[in-house]
Amino acid sequence: MFESLSDRLGSVFKKLKGQGKLSEKNIQDGLKEVRLALLEADVHYKVVKTLIAAIKERAVGQEVLESLTPGQQVVKIVNEELTNLMGGANEEINLGGGHPASIMLVGLQGSGKTTTAGKLAVYLRGQGRKPYLVPADVYRPAAIEQLTKIGKELSIPVYPSDTDSKPEKIAELARIKCAQEGCDTMILDTAGRLHIDDELMAELGRIKATTPPSDILLVADAMTGQDAVNMAKAFNDAMDVGGVILTKMDGDARGGAALSIRSITGKPIKFIGTGEKSNAFEAFHPNRMASRILGMGDVMTLIEKAQDAVDVKKAAELEKKLRKSQFTLEDFKDQMVQVRKMGSLEDIMSMIPGMGKSKHLKQLKGSDKEMIKIEAIINSMTLEERRNHTIINGSRRKRIAKGSGATVTDVNQLLKNYTQVMKMMKKINKGGMKKMGRMLGL
Ligand code: GDP
Repeated sequence: MFESLSDRLGSVFKKLKGQGKLSEKNIQDGLKEVRLALLEADVHYKVVKTLIAAIKERAVGQEVLESLTPGQQVVKIVNEELTNLMGGANEEINLGGGHPASIMLVGLQGSGKTTTAGKLAVYLRGQGRKPYLVPADVYRPAAIEQLTKIGKELSIPVYPSDTDSKPEKIAELARIKCAQEGCDTMILDTAGRLHIDDELMAELGRIKATTPPSDILLVADAMTGQDAVNMAKAFNDAMDVGGVILTKMDGDARGGAALSIRSITGKPIKFIGTGEKSNAFEAFHPNRMASRILGMGDVMTLIEKAQDAVDVKKAAELEKKLRKSQFTLEDFKDQMVQVRKMGSLEDIMSMIPGMGKSKHLKQLKGSDKEMIKIEAIINSMTLEERRNHTIINGSRRKRIAKGSGATVTDVNQLLKNYTQVMKMMKKINKGGMKKMGRMLGL
């Protein structure tokens, strides 16, 4: 996400940082380029105007001109103003009022509502809640089926809605059933249309009146840019939403919707969707997002993802094995599975400071496939082979390649990489971790 905006801003800042001292003219020129970059990123022109005015007021002041690192100082100001623009701090989902709590998801068809219902359920379960999915799009039987399937895959109960009932009735009955099933948070997937119309708004209004929700979240597709912003405004004017979930951020290189929604609608983005899988979902933190836009990474989100995905006990065991050079191919695979649980490699790397702008990131798309291939190769090995790679001779290599749909060269490459890692670990263990730390400049 944000690749093209990040690239543009990156080159503006590089120019600014290259100068020892900055003059007012340098800064004015730099800001002109920032303004263009934002407009090209499809940020609403009114938002750009306010933002540039706020940055300018601070950037041409003494704070920057007298600073020893003026370029850095400008970046810091832009970072802070971008954060303010997106609402400052994270706004949490409202789960208060009413037992069970109920979250109403609204939005246009295709925005990612049903997928998001599943993702939100997984997220809330991670927070210790007991979610209950309720399909309320009675016009499209396929939508009910889709959510039922998602619920089954994620082991989250789903209300058995039928297309003959009125959506408000479904919401009312589902609330009782939710409590009976021992759940405490109902997630209502409402009907979407291709365009906003009065009929849809009236229906959503009836659901809201009969089953007052704890929060109403508008699901909007980031890739539609300013259309998403206009749609969010119209929905909010009609039914006063509590916040926005911006989906498909993984496909949005520009970031116009993410930067404009708060300012234009006055409503916060509470979550973002970053892929099709159920774990591609994050709470929205304006400060972290600003850092990502400026190519400074997002270590906090990375740590949170790691905490969710990594089995701490297992990680400690693996570390011990690594130190004792007992790290087998089986462990290698375990390690990879844990990393993959955090999301795509590209997604993970973009959160590491300095990596956001890296060209290598673009090559990582292939690496996810590479990891799947390595996993398949290791899966085709016998347990004995995984524990002792030295027995893997030519005929075994052929068998493994055949079994995993890879080539013998792939198998050779994997074994070569693995032995190299083991050699390196032996060296490190001999020299001690301190030496390694010094090598890495720690
Ligand atoms: P609905 O009509 O609003 O319920 O939309 P769906 O949930 O059926 O989603 C429409 C399409 O968008 C599906 O193909 C989803 O897999 C896809 N989708 C949803 N959220 C995301 C996301 O965050 N990233 C990507 N890449 N695709 C998404």
